[in-house]
Amino acid sequence: MVAVLSSVLGFPRVGAQRELKKLIEGFWAGKVSEADLSQQAQALRVQHWKLQRDRGIDQIPSGDFSFYDLVLDTAYQFGAIPARYQSIPTGFDQYFAMGRGLQGSIRNVEGEEVQIDVPAMEMKKWFDTNYHYIVPELSTNQEFSLNSQPSIVAHFSEAKSLGIHTKPVLLGPVSFLLLSKGADHEAAGDFELLKLLPQLVPHYRTLLAKLAQAGATWIQVDEPYLGLDLTPTVEQAYQEAYASLTQDLPGALRLLLTTYFEQVDDRMALIAQLPVHGLHVDLIRHPEQLSGVLAKLPANWVLSLGLVNGRNVWKTDLDAALQLATQAVDQVGIDRVWMATSCSLLHCPFSLEFETKLDPEIKDWLAFSSEKLTEVSILRDAINQRYEGTETDTTNPADKAKVDAVLSANRASCQARRTSERVVNPAVKERLAKVDPSMLKRNAPFAERYPVQTEKQHLPLFPTTTIGSFPQTKEVRSARRKYKSGAWSEEQYNAFLRQETEKCVRLQESIGLDVLVHGEFERNDMVEYFGEKLRGYAFTQNGWVASYGTRCVKPPIVYGDVDRPQPMTVEWSVYAQTLTEKPIKGMLTGPVTCLQWSFVRDDQPRSVTAHQLALALRDEVSDLEKANITTIQIDEPAIREGLPLRRAKWEAYLDWAVSAFLLTSSSVQKGTQIHTHMCYSDFNDIFPAIQRMDADVITIENSRSDLKLLRAFEQHGYYNASGPGLYDIHSPRVPTAEEMGERLQALLQYLPYQLVWLNPDCGLKTRNWTEVESALRNLTETARVFRQKY
Ligand code: GLN
Ligand code: ZN
Repeated sequence: MVAVLSSVLGFPRVGAQRELKKLIEGFWAGKVSEADLSQQAQALRVQHWKLQRDRGIDQIPSGDFSFYDLVLDTAYQFGAIPARYQSIPTGFDQYFAMGRGLQGSIRNVEGEEVQIDVPAMEMKKWFDTNYHYIVPELSTNQEFSLNSQPSIVAHFSEAKSLGIHTKPVLLGPVSFLLLSKGADHEAAGDFELLKLLPQLVPHYRTLLAKLAQAGATWIQVDEPYLGLDLTPTVEQAYQEAYASLTQDLPGALRLLLTTYFEQVDDRMALIAQLPVHGLHVDLIRHPEQLSGVLAKLPANWVLSLGLVNGRNVWKTDLDAALQLATQAVDQVGIDRVWMATSCSLLHCPFSLEFETKLDPEIKDWLAFSSEKLTEVSILRDAINQRYEGTETDTTNPADKAKVDAVLSANRASCQARRTSERVVNPAVKERLAKVDPSMLKRNAPFAERYPVQTEKQHLPLFPTTTIGSFPQTKEVRSARRKYKSGAWSEEQYNAFLRQETEKCVRLQESIGLDVLVHGEFERNDMVEYFGEKLRGYAFTQNGWVASYGTRCVKPPIVYGDVDRPQPMTVEWSVYAQTLTEKPIKGMLTGPVTCLQWSFVRDDQPRSVTAHQLALALRDEVSDLEKANITTIQIDEPAIREGLPLRRAKWEAYLDWAVSAFLLTSSSVQKGTQIHTHMCYSDFNDIFPAIQRMDADVITIENSRSDLKLLRAFEQHGYYNASGPGLYDIHSPRVPTAEEMGERLQALLQYLPYQLVWLNPDCGLKTRNWTEVESALRNLTETARVFRQKY
């Protein structure tokens, strides 16, 4: 076949209407049988393969389907099942127990009815996406064994029986080990884990042999770590692993080494030595890497060009993509180039066709996964038609007239988006251009501010507070639904919210907390709530993307210059303040978190969007201050996850992320206290940046990992006030005052007692009122005891 091919790296498994989510959750609830689960999941896979075939994809992925997570599947498939799950019989129970824990009675491997209570394996963010994978746990003497019926082989055959020849997708052995963690404490670190390659790779070889036997040809081997920071140990691991993997490789098999999210042009010396047959590169993140990659691409290798963004929702600029494609084809020839998505489409919603409420002008700028399939195949056809005389034996090619029509419609959409009044707001651009360094700095140093704040707010030693949200009960959620569906008027809904807020304020007063919150009952989601009130943001009805397991999120879309037509939160904070003499803390989501948890513009740098968000939030801070709300919390739980994948790029990111926070927060008077909150304790790497944010008080997660956090405090010193969480809000357990006291005592070895706040780890929205009340009463009791002591 002498033609450019179209390829997709992975398709969203959850289905157009989140069918898979409903199915699996039904299974967990005992409402869907195991047979139905398997059967309907298969039907969904078939549907997705057929859709891709009909849209003209030549290299359709298989093995991209999972009931929970693909990294978990890889571990499971190679028998890496931690000891605590081994009493559970093989099958769905055991598999889901690894993903989400299991509590209750089961029949064990011996067939006896036993009580079991095992927590889930750890979850981590998949590179710099918002998808969370399950972290495999491997011991130093880990043994692997290939599952007797690997699902990836079964899925390949399933598709084959429909006449669809798919490209199985494997997570490569080196990246798999680097994503894992040591089960024993001493086995932490990539060096130890990579030592397991000789045990692991033979099972990969067996798997490849089985795939070859089933008739597979191209195999997509994902090795995203190739683009990350490489140590000599990792480089050597790649060489050894691939040499061993391709020993006795069945003749029909061809391996496509697949990278994404980072550039690899500076890694070509290593890559070109690996005994594979092709390379996939992400040209969305790094279009400039193409020349460097082409210069060193081994003869006969296929080059798969990631030209259609798998992580964002915009239409591809097809002309620009074709230019890159032409550069590649001119250099390596038409038979060695593929047009592809930049990464798996897992991170993209399913289809635009369900969006009936999106403004048609904005909708015309978007492409979700299904629409991106067409983009990939149109790119293929356009290139094949340009290099006339080639035989185009490809899947569902479009004729020349159709291709031309699509290209010119695409040109019109891209042009319209560039110049639309909805996108461009000169006032916002002008304002941003005028930001000067004085706007990024408080008007007095912390040491001068803090005493003023303490006096103004009448704060005692060891002040107590919470992180913002209080229980989002069934009633709260059902009230919101009634309002959204029109069953409740705005008045009815607001009356309900006022009632909840009042209840919450009264309870905090009775518990004796010092700085109160309004409870966030009016918020569905900490980003969506602000997005709905800002100009430049759009919302979808069905734009779900996988977050973890069966959980999906619906990120809002920043399409234009952002500004704030009117105050967003002032009314609620002011209302709460009328109910009490105690200070009410205003509650905002920070600019970097709004950015990280939205689909954002690809036509300007992320830093610019972050600064536009910061200006809008800066106005909100000012309005809160004017309305006498003089404690304001700006949550930035996502600052850390925005870190670039290579360390050399961290400083540049942290510079603009910190400056966006400062632009939001630093307009206020000395006496106004700025809080920030972050939901992680792994501070070591970014401590100096956190200090530069210069929040008066930072509240942080601490209870699950105090050692790490305290070590960081000791190493770097932190000069402002802080509230490392005294208890874990993820668990229904109510800690005693003694326990919290012990934790606090431990903290005080590292932190000056005058600057310590008492608070939980995070917001309380997932807990119930009884738990919240008891835990907070114990927290204020702890404060009372320590105030006497110090
Ligand atoms: N203020 C938010 C809350 O309490 C913070 C949530 C978060 O840190 N993710 O819910
Ligand atoms: Zn948090």
